[in-house]
Amino acid sequence: MRQTNSFNEKRECPFCGKKDLKKPYWRHVQSEHPEEFSGNIEIWKQLYKDYRSAGMTEEISILAISELFNKSEEAVRDYLVKEKVLT
Ligand SMILES: [Zn+2]
Repeated sequence: MRQTNSFNEKRECPFCGKKDLKKPYWRHVQSEHPEEFSGNIEIWKQLYKDYRSAGMTEEISILAISELFNKSEEAVRDYLVKEKVLT
C-alpha cells in the first residue's frame, strides 16, 4: 500500500546538483550526503509529508524521524508544529 504521487516528483539535489532524482530527494541526500542530511532540519518537513502520504500515522511518522535523526520525538513534534506542518 503505497501512493506514488509525491514520490515521483523530480527534484534537483541542492548539494551536488544532480538532476532528475526520481526517488524522494531526501533519500538521495541521506545516502550521498549524510552530513548535510543530519544537519538539515528542513528535511523533517518533507519526510513527514512523505511518510503521511505513504499511509503512516502521525505518531509513527514522528517516531521514524526521531530515530533517523537521533532526536527526541518531542523535538520533532515541536519543530513540525512550529513549521505548521502539524497542528
Ligand atoms: Zn546530491
